[in-house]
Amino acid sequence: MAKHEFKAESQKLLDMVIHSIYSQREIFLRELISNASDAIDKIYYKALTDDALTFDQSNYYIKLIPNKEKRTLTVVDTGIGMTKEELEDNLGVIAKSGSHTFKSENEIKDGHDIIGQFGVGFYAAFMVADKVTVLTKSIDSEEGYQWVSQGSDGYTITPIDREEVGTEIILEIKENEEEDNYDTFLEEATLKQIVKKYSDFIRYPIKMDVTESKLKEGTEDEYEDVIEEQTLNTMVPIWKKNKSELTDEDYTNFYQEKRYGFDQPLRHIHINVDGAVRYNAILFIPEQTPFNYYSREYEKGLELYSNGVLIMEKCADLLPDYFSFVKGMVDSEDLSLNISREMLQHDRQLKIIAKNIHKKIKQQLLSLLRDEREKYETFFKALGQQIKFGVYSDFGQHKEELQDLLLFYSSTEKKLVTLEEYVSRMPEDQKYIYYASGDSNERIEKLPQTEIVADKGYEILYFTDEVDEFAIKMLMQYQDKEFRSVSSGDLGIEADEKEEEKEETESHNELFTAMKEVLGDKVKDVRASKRLKSHPVVLSADGDISLEMEKIINAMPD
Ligand code: ADP
Ligand code: MG
Repeated sequence: MAKHEFKAESQKLLDMVIHSIYSQREIFLRELISNASDAIDKIYYKALTDDALTFDQSNYYIKLIPNKEKRTLTVVDTGIGMTKEELEDNLGVIAKSGSHTFKSENEIKDGHDIIGQFGVGFYAAFMVADKVTVLTKSIDSEEGYQWVSQGSDGYTITPIDREEVGTEIILEIKENEEEDNYDTFLEEATLKQIVKKYSDFIRYPIKMDVTESKLKEGTEDEYEDVIEEQTLNTMVPIWKKNKSELTDEDYTNFYQEKRYGFDQPLRHIHINVDGAVRYNAILFIPEQTPFNYYSREYEKGLELYSNGVLIMEKCADLLPDYFSFVKGMVDSEDLSLNISREMLQHDRQLKIIAKNIHKKIKQQLLSLLRDEREKYETFFKALGQQIKFGVYSDFGQHKEELQDLLLFYSSTEKKLVTLEEYVSRMPEDQKYIYYASGDSNERIEKLPQTEIVADKGYEILYFTDEVDEFAIKMLMQYQDKEFRSVSSGDLGIEADEKEEEKEETESHNELFTAMKEVLGDKVKDVRASKRLKSHPVVLSADGDISLEMEKIINAMPD
């Protein structure tokens, strides 16, 4: 039986591309620029095997030409151009990617420079244009061609006179509609912004004649419009540069340019991985709590690039919540993108990258703690709470990973200390890691409950954050030492203490019974205590929940 080929209903397909694939209209420019960059790359690859061709990078560029009068935006490239057949195959058939074919035909395995793969990006032009004209001449053809389409009604191809190899795509920009502002795509400022956002790291210059108002020569307050050709993109991404060529200042500039924060980052992490999944990343540990950090509006995530083209502004999967303050970007050639190139197809590669990144962030924080204690304390004061939440969250899954990043104020050291430091100072007879909770260090210091522990010469950690005790309850122990609240019933200090207390209580039975009657429900018991030194009474918690924690728990809605 004869097999029939599926026929795609081009018009419907085109409608889909125009209306459903992309979430944002401005993406059309990213797609056209990516195609232009691919076209230049193809000359580069051709030159590698064709002796008659030389590739001088400086001859190749992309140029944007907005024209408000004519309502056109033209994207010019000096790339490989298209033959008549290529125009028919690549622009006449939706979902046919000449770039994909080029990669496989030329066996460019790490054809990672070439961006195109799905064969739909070009049609994004119809999101903003009523009519698209392509003028092109292929490096392999004597003749130039013009391809014209108004979208759904098909296209025409006619020969034209054209000298130079390369392609020019002329978009006739739609008229504004009620809520849709298309005029903006004729504005220099908008175009600059879109290029910066998505195409900043395209390897070839993206140029535009920019009109700027400048002080007239010889005058002090007269301005004139000056037109000058500017390159809009940075081209070489900092993350592809050699670490040894970069200074701290370069990274800080990048941080500020990218508006990751208004502070000075405490540390940067520059990662180049050439393993199972290849990627580059630059991450920052901020000095201050990021803007809006503790509000619902705050979105964690790293910028995600594929081949230097921005795919996602905030890829949340790359950061665990407890490191949600980290800023930066990841660029990988190995991501499987979905058709809109706005999302990922599989997250296997992403998972590997994420895991790797967690490790690096932790290492950096530990090294900051080790080598630049003051900076670490700055960090911890701003963001330590997040680490504590991390210990507590997900049923303590990450506690081992995070415990060494914790700092608490110490009664004996009078400064922030790590658990490791605490344990290393513990005298042999000390059974537990002691802590006391309260509103402030000053208040905790005055707590009668701390007295007996302090008298023994033991160090006490002061918990002033509500989350502290929850985190510690999740940890349970550190280096086999259990945590114990100073208000706990059993401090493990003297074995015979309990016996003596019992005798004392019995001998003052009458007094205690009277007190209990007066206090009623407010207390469970009144008894003699061996813990007090200078204070007459102490409130003590039953079991191992401290008074502070009881307060928090009682304040929680049922
Ligand atoms: P993709 O880039 O994913 O292949 P597009 O729809 O963006 O899909 O483009 C389809 C094809 O048209 C490209 O693969 C390429 O062969 C061709 N093409 C598009 N723009 C240009 C250009 N500026 N120069 C040369 N060829 C181009
Ligand atoms: Mg494309």
